Amino acid sequence: MRPTMVAGNWKMNGLSADAVHLTQAILSAGLEQLRPEVVLFPPFTLLHAVSQEAKGTALRWGGQNLFWEANGAYTGEISGAMLRDMGCRYVLIGHSERRQIFAESDDLVAHKVKAALTSGLIPVVCVGESAAEREQGTTEQVLQRQVEAILPLLNRESNQPNLIIAYEPIWAIGTGLSASPEQAQTVHAFIRNLIAGYSSQLAKKIILLYGGSVKGNNAAALFNQDDIDGALVGGASLIAGEFIQICRAAE
Ligand code: 13P
Repeated sequence: MRPTMVAGNWKMNGLSADAVHLTQAILSAGLEQLRPEVVLFPPFTLLHAVSQEAKGTALRWGGQNLFWEANGAYTGEISGAMLRDMGCRYVLIGHSERRQIFAESDDLVAHKVKAALTSGLIPVVCVGESAAEREQGTTEQVLQRQVEAILPLLNRESNQPNLIIAYEPIWAIGTGLSASPEQAQTVHAFIRNLIAGYSSQLAKKIILLYGGSVKGNNAAALFNQDDIDGALVGGASLIAGEFIQICRAAE
């Protein structure tokens, strides 16, 4: 059985007191003893607060973005080395909000994935189609393009995948309208199959997360699907009770 993961993407939400409260609530629920790896993605400003609470526990944390240079005159940017310095193990790359609002292209995403790997971070690369693309029947085409942009960065020399992919259909993000377990499974199987064309060994082991309106009451059905190895949770990750319920559903 593949390892599973439940990750909370806090997006641009929370102040120091919220981070301390939420992290403590998660730790007190004993989630770190569960099989899935539980990961928090707070805004950069809260990484220190989360790390102070979570250090020495099994809870992990990561950044929501990074820039590809290690340091220099890049006002407003954060590097992989800086994330490592904050104790991050993971980094989100290519979230649809970054692709759409900040015009991040597949090339740029690949560039960032490369930088993350060089820094010793595990990239969680987000892919997913828009409502219009699904309606036009181009879902697979879009996903193939997004996945193929990063495939060459998967390390075939190792038998452990060096990155994670999160399938997040844009129409399901923040809408309360999750993909059905069957819809998500179909896409996850498609993505795993694309990876199998590159390395069948890595395809079997790579963690494929689903994201988009995952809640306490729909998580278990999603996790029951063969190719869904966990979740990337947005809104519900800001509510301790809801997030804890999702983590328990992955057990
Ligand atoms: P929601 O869970 O709020 O739909 O957000 C999903 C997401 O974008 C996680 O990265």
